[in-house]
Amino acid sequence: VAAAERLRRCVRPGDVVARLGGDEFAVLLGAAPGPEAVLPVAERMVAEFTQPCAVGERKIPVGLSIGIALLPEHGRDVDDVLGNADLALYESKEGGRGRATLYAPHLGERSRRRAAIEQGLREAVARGEFMLHWQPRVDLDGWRMTGAEALLRWQHPVLGRVGPAEFITVAEQTGTIAEIGAWVLREACRVAATTLPGLTVSVNVSALQLRQGDFVAGVRDALDLSGLPAARLEIELTESIFIDDANDAMAVLRRLQQLGVRIALDDFGTGYSSLAYLRRFPFDTLKIDRAFVRELTSRQDTQAIVAAMTQLATSLGMRVVAEGVERVDELDLVARLGCHEVQGYLVSVPRTETEFGRLRGGWDAGARPHAPALH
Ligand code: C2E
Ligand code: CA
Ligand code: CA
Repeated sequence: VAAAERLRRCVRPGDVVARLGGDEFAVLLGAAPGPEAVLPVAERMVAEFTQPCAVGERKIPVGLSIGIALLPEHGRDVDDVLGNADLALYESKEGGRGRATLYAPHLGERSRRRAAIEQGLREAVARGEFMLHWQPRVDLDGWRMTGAEALLRWQHPVLGRVGPAEFITVAEQTGTIAEIGAWVLREACRVAATTLPGLTVSVNVSALQLRQGDFVAGVRDALDLSGLPAARLEIELTESIFIDDANDAMAVLRRLQQLGVRIALDDFGTGYSSLAYLRRFPFDTLKIDRAFVRELTSRQDTQAIVAAMTQLATSLGMRVVAEGVERVDELDLVARLGCHEVQGYLVSVPRTETEFGRLRGGWDAGARPHAPALH
């Protein structure tokens, strides 16, 4: 009711403010000659929602995102126009909310791409379109390769190569992540047992996957099927597992640990990055996100943060891995700040199984990159 009243304050008599359902409203502006007349109204609406709503004693923050479509330019009938306004709305939400976006044809293309990804994901496992690439992890003490992270690659029949940053989110939203994640686990364990002797393999698992079905049973099956010893498998999880139901997540982590599987906290330092998470569960590994590594050489405060995170994790018995190390100066700094291992383009980009085998075959523990000496 409060939201509807705020919207009504922004329009003229004769305009229509309607609730479509849930938290969705539609506004029909009668005499608006073009976008020049509509955008200021949208801006007023966004401004109306910067103040929280008072509900009883409490103040509840509310916000809105707006998608705009024009008649007749953006559709001939109600369905067309609402559909296109919806595409524009989606764009506003993606862009960080509190925005208004006017429909444009390229938004339609994006949604067609998304639909193609959504559809493609349903069949990708069965069609054998997925493949794992491997990126080495290297110990800073002896410059030995200690493990490899499995990174998922997808060749879409029409779109070509689609990156995991794009399709994993879609797989999570549409539920296909369970099937895909199960394939990744089985394939990673199979490759580890057959062609990666002596290495720990890391597998990324999304928070949703952890909650779907019996995740632990899936891990046990993958280990049994491949014969891989549990201690050679590391599951990488992000802090987001603690957001919705921390206790449930914790129970799954404990069962995994009982299996003998290692557990890593991935992307540490992005998002919530609470040091308190480190106390809540005895992770085996902490992976410091590239966002920190990137800033190390230019910012003193970042160095202090990484040093503190590393010290704390080390004293809690965790291995600390610096992610995304691209340059020698970054390598030297993370080593000095106490990290135990590195991963990143400096050592190698993620490679196919064959290319990875070649890298390992020619590995030289004496060949750690060093900065050229200054004279
Ligand atoms: P992540 O787990 O943080 O993986 C590391 C990402 O950083 C990889 O991107 C890797 O290629 C990239 N990277 C490695 N070294 C460097 C470097 O030196 N510089 C830069 N700029 N980047 C580097 P990728 O393969 O595109 O994967 C992106 C994300 O997708 C992963 O981030 C992970 O969150 C997710 N992902 C990948 N495979 C899987 C999977 O099998 N399951 C799930 N749930 N997520 C996956
Ligand atoms: Ca990872
Ligand atoms: Ca990461």
